[in-house]
Amino acid sequence: MIDSNTSFYQRLATEALHGIALHQADGLRLLEDESLELLPLLQAAFQVRYRHFGRRVRVQILNNVQNGYCPEDCHYCAQSTTSAAPIAKYPVKPDSEILAEAERAYQAGAFRYCMVLAGRGPNPQRLAHMANLVQQIKARWPMEVCLSAGFIDQTMATSLKQAGLDRYNHNLNTAEGHYGAICHTHTYQDRLATLRAARAAGLEVCSGLIVGMGESNRDLWTVANTLRQLQARSIPVNFYLHIPGNALGAVAHGLTPEKCLRILCLFRFLNPDAELRAAGGREQHLRSLAPLSLYPANALFCAGYLNVGGQSAEEVKQMIVDAGFEWEQVQE
Ligand code: SF4
Repeated sequence: MIDSNTSFYQRLATEALHGIALHQADGLRLLEDESLELLPLLQAAFQVRYRHFGRRVRVQILNNVQNGYCPEDCHYCAQSTTSAAPIAKYPVKPDSEILAEAERAYQAGAFRYCMVLAGRGPNPQRLAHMANLVQQIKARWPMEVCLSAGFIDQTMATSLKQAGLDRYNHNLNTAEGHYGAICHTHTYQDRLATLRAARAAGLEVCSGLIVGMGESNRDLWTVANTLRQLQARSIPVNFYLHIPGNALGAVAHGLTPEKCLRILCLFRFLNPDAELRAAGGREQHLRSLAPLSLYPANALFCAGYLNVGGQSAEEVKQMIVDAGFEWEQVQE
């Protein structure tokens, strides 16, 4: 058994390094076969991560530039129209505040600054406003900028690209077959259309998921494979956190720190050169094993998530250094 497992780990790494897609049966095995030890699996994923990113870790800071009042009903989201979660709702922050937060992110060493707005999608005024902010941030600080603003078409994506936006975020969240269990106001195809529009406009695509919302292991493989086909350059893997008041409730997610790490390995083998981020819920679900997430993943958030707190930039820096990795900054 030890010999066959050793060759399995090495085959996963070798195939990923040669750009061969991880077969579904292998993906399910790495998630389910308890005879596969975690550390050799992480080491195999690390070989792939190291090829593309060395020991560097990209740290991203999120800014909810607008929060709440969303007409959509994503059952996991505290900003959804169906959520009774007591969050601070506010319209788009003043430009001065957004720019000051961008500067603070830059001073904290963030590789990328991400602006997030709730809602189905931007109207023309909001789109022009966000494009203007992107232009101002890019002119002042050498930092990548990402925007998450809901559904967009190719014309909208092109104007954001022309403003200097690097990347557009729109998460798939789960597999198509499970989507009806987490949202009723839009379809999976709507989400795919936005990602295709962003890519067609020349924007990098950032798209990830939330694991632990009742999906199957097969669903996890399917999302990882769909993101491979979409050539997502950035994949945030969030771990479900129940926020009281949300429609989805406290699903029995079966997430353990080890399962979370195996899921990150699955995403790395299927998306060898994507920026893979151990995202929201990292602190709560990975707990003391969080530093091991750096073996498959090369990116993290710091300073909290949309409606949940997280580790400070200082704590994240310490974790990165203690684990023998390097905090990466954009080259000026
Ligand atoms: S995930 Fe986005 S679209 Fe869905 S309810 Fe939350 S803010 Fe609205």
